[in-house]
Amino acid sequence: MADDVEQAEQAEETEHAASPPLDPDVLARRDAAMRHVRKLGDPILKTKARPVERFDDELRDEVARMGILMHHALGIGLAAPQVGIAHRVIVYRVEPDSPVVALVNPDIEWFSRDEEVSEEGCLSLPMIHVDVERPVAVLVNARDEHGAEIIIEASGLEARVIQHEIDHLDGILILDRTSREQRKAAMRALREAEQAAAGVAS
Ligand code: ZN
Repeated sequence: MADDVEQAEQAEETEHAASPPLDPDVLARRDAAMRHVRKLGDPILKTKARPVERFDDELRDEVARMGILMHHALGIGLAAPQVGIAHRVIVYRVEPDSPVVALVNPDIEWFSRDEEVSEEGCLSLPMIHVDVERPVAVLVNARDEHGAEIIIEASGLEARVIQHEIDHLDGILILDRTSREQRKAAMRALREAEQAAAGVAS
């Protein structure tokens, strides 16, 4: 028994080793932000989002709010459906110090033939990590929040985040992109977490 606990603790440490320890304020802000993020089971996550037609102040406010929410949630990408808006808008930032990039009506024009498997998480599926195979590089055509055309050539993590977020605009989640075994294990973990939370609440 003692061994099980110790192993569990070690596993936890390994998983968090890459990130610096978080102070209580950061954690509180993250938890508050996460309450605004739609989770698995919300029908909007399975809905195809509509293209944006008006590049107005409302859109720019939406983009700004998404950037702040992503920052507080400690995410590197966020799609509008995750905050309840069925619009084709994504924001991302793969380097902590770089500005947030907003892509409106993004369209992937080219995928590299090379693909790579890497572990992905999702703010809409807290605690779940699954392997997803994706093209290593993409060429994306989009508008910014002012309506100007932008073309982005991305590879590595940036290409992966863009593809993950555009999937959200088409109602596709990482569970739809992983192996059957990993999907089953993830669904089981989510059910157990839900039951544990229900147990605590009652
Ligand atoms: Zn996601």
